[in-house]
Amino acid sequence: MKLNILWMYHDLMDLYGDKGNIQVLKTRCEKRGIDVTVDTCGIGETRTISDYDIFFLGGGADREQSLIFEDLLSRRDGIEQAMKSGTAFLLICGGYQMFGKYYRDQDGKTVPCLDFFDYYTEASDRDHRCIGNIAIEVTMDHETFNAVGFENHGGQTRGVTTPLGRVLKGHGNEYQSAFEGFVNDQVAATYMHGPLLPKNPRIADLVLMRGLRRNYGSVTLSELDDTFETRARETMLGRLGIKKASE
Ligand code: GLN
Repeated sequence: MKLNILWMYHDLMDLYGDKGNIQVLKTRCEKRGIDVTVDTCGIGETRTISDYDIFFLGGGADREQSLIFEDLLSRRDGIEQAMKSGTAFLLICGGYQMFGKYYRDQDGKTVPCLDFFDYYTEASDRDHRCIGNIAIEVTMDHETFNAVGFENHGGQTRGVTTPLGRVLKGHGNEYQSAFEGFVNDQVAATYMHGPLLPKNPRIADLVLMRGLRRNYGSVTLSELDDTFETRARETMLGRLGIKKASE
């Protein structure tokens, strides 16, 4: 099996080790004998987005978001085409915000976003920034499990009707919100950095299965030894006072 991954704005949208997400996707393919390629795409580079099975966009501070938004918006048709062709999307923080209607930054400046979904994001005042370790109960593709990460965002994302998960500890979409992220059939979007996938390989595998689905239909992935990943996640869940029950 082959899998093509597109890593958008690898040089600008890469906060808190988001590049680790790409490394995890790649390694989990290689261990299973899946022929994986990762192409990067910077501002002004030509890529046919619908050629890819997985589209990854990491987080960025306000500055990076204001640097990439014009280029990203110019690719809207290509992204829409990719959505129609079945590409899977993984979006982190700033990347997550960019798929909504708009992002209003701390200075009140509005950055137009791709407007694929109904949610929108407005920066909080300094006292309501969402910072710290976060744990959520993810529900994705009919699976429910706990995931951990780290969040640091001023943006308060409102209007999400299908969140990725329920907040167990931390903030999520808004300051002290009950819900975190956004999910649909093809798109998984979250405020969880850390990076997300090394401690949450189950999410990695769901994203890989979504990516493979485009060419191979529903596939079953072989089990990998996730002893260290599980230990890391459980340690953090323990520190945050969350029981293992729904693990
Ligand atoms: N600039 C955005 C915010 O603060 C996104 C930050 C991020 O990607 N961590 O809300």
